[in-house]
Amino acid sequence: MPVNKPLVFLDLDDTILDFTWAERRALSIAFREVGLEPTPELLERYHEINISQWELLEEGVLTRDQVLVRRFALLFAERGICHSAEQLGERYEFLLRDGHRFIPGAEELLRSLQGRARLFIASNGCAAVQDARIASAGLEKYFEGIFISERLGADKPSSEYFRRCFAAIPDFDPAMAWMVGDSLTSDIRGGRDAGLHTCWFNVRGRPPRADIVPDYEIRDLAELPPLLGL
Ligand SMILES: [Mg+2]
Repeated sequence: MPVNKPLVFLDLDDTILDFTWAERRALSIAFREVGLEPTPELLERYHEINISQWELLEEGVLTRDQVLVRRFALLFAERGICHSAEQLGERYEFLLRDGHRFIPGAEELLRSLQGRARLFIASNGCAAVQDARIASAGLEKYFEGIFISERLGADKPSSEYFRRCFAAIPDFDPAMAWMVGDSLTSDIRGGRDAGLHTCWFNVRGRPPRADIVPDYEIRDLAELPPLLGL
């Protein structure tokens, strides 16, 4: 295994695959099945609640199972909706496995880096869901390893998550390693704390945070290879 190549941990959701599209699609089906109209406003409110709950997981306040149910329980409580959050959550997770859409430039990036960089997926998703999405998108062929937090028993941004990734990689050299992703709180904070070079994929032009500063910020995935020296 050549060790002089850059090694890149790539986040999956909203870095390689368009999770926002997948989320809205699966939610719309799940909501309609129980008689709820998936208005843009309802989907947006769910999205906000969901992000806030994953941030609580990143901070170690909630477990994964709590997040999966609480995001629906909070939405339903807020809207006075009488439906089981557990049932809807399970149906949504199942629907999420179907279909995929790439972030613009992601396939080109993977093809461009293939063979020139060591690529790994670093994702906080659920193993069953992420396995299905990765297979559906045909992503395995690009990656030397796939690290899903549920399977590792630790989540980004914890140093334990990254320690377990490093331990599983032959000839791991932290000086050559990067973390690239769209989330400041999980990808950039985690990568920075683990001693990696960090690149924030800020496709939506979100505001920076003074406490989590990436080494690099890009708006387009095509900007990444030159940063890696490729
Ligand atoms: Mg992401």
